Amino acid sequence: MDDGEFLDKLRAALGEGGVTADPADLEPWLTDWRGRVTGNALALVSPRNAGEVQAVVRLAAAAGIPIVPQGGNTGMVAGGVPRPGDRAIVLSLRKMNAIRGIDAGDNSLVAEAGVILSEVHRAAEEVGRRFPLSLAAKGSATIGGLVSTNAGGTQVLRFGPMRSLILGIEAVLPDGSLFEGLSSLRKDNRGYDLRQLLAGAEGTLGIVTAASLKLVPAAPHRIVAWLGLGSAYDALSGLRALEGAVGDAVESFELVPANALALVLKHIPDTRAPLRSDHDWHVLVEMRTSGDVAMLRTIAETALATLLEDGLIADAAIAESEAQAEAFWKLRETISEAERIDGTGAKHDVSVPVSAMPGFIESTAPQVEAEFPGCRVIAFGHLGDGNVHFNVQPPKDAAPGWVAETGVLVSRFVHDRVREVGGSLSAEHGIGQLKLEEFARLAEPARLAAMRSIKHALDPKGIMNPGKLVPLANPGENS
Ligand code: FAD
Repeated sequence: MDDGEFLDKLRAALGEGGVTADPADLEPWLTDWRGRVTGNALALVSPRNAGEVQAVVRLAAAAGIPIVPQGGNTGMVAGGVPRPGDRAIVLSLRKMNAIRGIDAGDNSLVAEAGVILSEVHRAAEEVGRRFPLSLAAKGSATIGGLVSTNAGGTQVLRFGPMRSLILGIEAVLPDGSLFEGLSSLRKDNRGYDLRQLLAGAEGTLGIVTAASLKLVPAAPHRIVAWLGLGSAYDALSGLRALEGAVGDAVESFELVPANALALVLKHIPDTRAPLRSDHDWHVLVEMRTSGDVAMLRTIAETALATLLEDGLIADAAIAESEAQAEAFWKLRETISEAERIDGTGAKHDVSVPVSAMPGFIESTAPQVEAEFPGCRVIAFGHLGDGNVHFNVQPPKDAAPGWVAETGVLVSRFVHDRVREVGGSLSAEHGIGQLKLEEFARLAEPARLAAMRSIKHALDPKGIMNPGKLVPLANPGENS
């Protein structure tokens, strides 16, 4: 089947409005959020329901044309865009954006793949519940993308990543069959957990068309504080002390170094320094309760006063209003945007055991800066999960090709240090295209062999998002 014939068949299945091959329409969906990869595609297809997704998958399987599923295109590893030179279609789930149902008694909600995260938050709030996963891209990231990357975010500390919030999944498998696994069962022991296999699969095993999600009781009252401190070690000790005082009310504990805060203040409008004096490190902490917020505040204030007395923190400001709480969060949530504006660097999304993270940051940052003169480490993020974005800014006078040349060496250096402490080169962003070679270099042989076997068993024709997540047996073929 030639490309024209294939596109005609797609149009017959989805209607003219469901398929576009116009380069101008395609262009916005071919480059990843960070602007690192611009790929090629024959067309953008936008099915409206699972039946249409099945039709597209069957046609693509028959023609041997790869499918790149895409949600909000906010992914950090270029998993949702095609590769340069690809003869593929981008399958956008954005038109599948209905919340199919919400059951407050069951604490569950069923959302189609294209529903945007902030819409799920809103729907849950309307029935006195909440969906406890949030991240800075909540206004664009979709449920399908969040499931497929097993996204993390700022509430993992208390509620775990996306995988721990998925009750069921509906997905179109690579042969065009529909896996109808949308139940909201809390217990289901029928062997292999296909939901969890599809979650985090980055579209390499099928297309998620809907998910049944776990809700938790609303906790409308929050206390948001900004802390200034001297080291990442003090930050972790502070977290444990705070948990001792307020228990699991601590939902977010985000580490922000002085250089990340400075980037935000430089590039993001309407931001201002949260504390009067400068500090090497900062933490944004959020505590939530559905009960007596005045009591939580008193306990939190006492705990923070003790941290000040003990010298673990140097300063603290508790938000006096929702507007101030939002202003604190803006400082944290715009770090990636500020980095993007400032220029490309070598980005790493690493996890190590939580207790090892302060030592990892404080020893690896100077090593990187000594090995690669002029570079600057910006390590920020989810300290309580043992996950930071350990990003390395190039020297001021770096050549345009720095990321592709020296940046690759920097990444190897960082990932080698991560491996030495038993960590992972992908904590929450996934592998996509950008981490594929490093994953192939560092993964245990048994892990790679099992992943390749699963991929081949479910997708023998290799049409589902090839070149992402699963390294080929011959490493030279990955790039
Ligand atoms: P896309 O980017 O469109 O796709 C991501 C991957 O999922 C691709 O491999 C794609 O092929 C696949 N995919 C998408 N939809 C489907 C589907 N329906 N079926 C099968 N496969 C599919 N991530 C975190 O984990 N934590 C954070 O704190 C965080 N913060 C961020 C902050 C900013 C400012 C930005 C821009 C991104 C951030 N991210 C974060 C990354 C990103 O938001 C997540 O990876 C998110 O899950 C991607 O969702 P998406 O809908 O944009 O997916």
